Amino acid sequence: MARVYNFSAGPSMLPESVLKKAQSELLEYGSSGQSVMEMSHRSSVYDAIIRDVESSLRRVLAIPENYKVGFFQGGASTQFAMVPLNLMTTGKADYIVTGNFSKKAAEEAAKFGEARIVASSKDRNFTYIPDVKAIDYSKDASYLHICENNTIFGTRYAELPQVEGVPLVADMSSCILSRPTDVSKYGLLYFGVQKNVAPAGMAVAVVREDLLGRAAESVPTMLNYKTIIDADSMYNTPPCWCIYMMGLVLHYIEDEVGGLAQMEKRNNEKAALLYDYLDSQEFFTNPVEKKYRSVMNVTFTSPSPELDKKFCAQAEQAGLVNLKGHRLVGGMRASIYNAMPRAGVEKLVEFMREFERENG
Ligand code: PMP
Repeated sequence: MARVYNFSAGPSMLPESVLKKAQSELLEYGSSGQSVMEMSHRSSVYDAIIRDVESSLRRVLAIPENYKVGFFQGGASTQFAMVPLNLMTTGKADYIVTGNFSKKAAEEAAKFGEARIVASSKDRNFTYIPDVKAIDYSKDASYLHICENNTIFGTRYAELPQVEGVPLVADMSSCILSRPTDVSKYGLLYFGVQKNVAPAGMAVAVVREDLLGRAAESVPTMLNYKTIIDADSMYNTPPCWCIYMMGLVLHYIEDEVGGLAQMEKRNNEKAALLYDYLDSQEFFTNPVEKKYRSVMNVTFTSPSPELDKKFCAQAEQAGLVNLKGHRLVGGMRASIYNAMPRAGVEKLVEFMREFERENG
């Protein structure tokens, strides 16, 4: 078996030890005589699993007592609608648009009220993050929404906007668990799990208690945060396997990596390998303003679309897969989430050097 280094933006690599653990428990979980995939979600065995996953997440992310956690289906995209449906009590919310997903979130919110775009980095094809201190925020916004790491454009906030009295809502799909997070700065944060947390199939929301229970009566039961959260994510059948896998990943972060500070150190070192190389030569270009470079998604282009194509094809032959950039950006994108080993990034940089020598 030859496992490749997979630079996919999501679903993406999972830690090998997690996959092996899942494999070892695939046919029989503990002494239950059954697989987690087959278990009743109402069984005591599964109940212990889901409770452990929530408490592990609370520990790893250091979630304060006054925040609730819920597991939701429909991916991060459903959260784009749930946020306004549950929080837009003034009929208005502020959105900062820094890429495709924050744009989609704003468009979804506009179906339910006024989604005011208070800043955007579209003028320079989303290669930077607007200065959060210079924005004219609405005083009567129900919340301010951001996408903290922009998966497609390879940018991330260097500083979080904080507006007195207006809860910050953040899509953290492509940066969650990559470094310590001060949860108390957010009213609500959410993430799709398929990058740093688990296989695809779920989103998680962490919601400050006082923001719950504000949804109108007409909001569908399953789209009300309170429904799922009040039922400890067991209102209906949850994505049982996905939740179990998330638990394995959380235990990996705690026990093997040593927590989020260590995770951040590893991630910063991996990203520095790539960015330092990119800064040392002129064949490949990274368009992002340095201050806002993502540690998770690194974009770059070669001198021509033809060479980009050749690069991706040859990289694949070398076991470096899914490097093609998003169609909105072109070129290449290396997603180097938590589970990407340092050796994978080293091999990529070595491959880039060689490609540059041969084609430069
Ligand atoms: N937000 C961000 C930052 C993303 O990267 C993605 C998916 N790549 C989404 C939202 C959409 O997630 P989902 O496919 O889970 O709906």
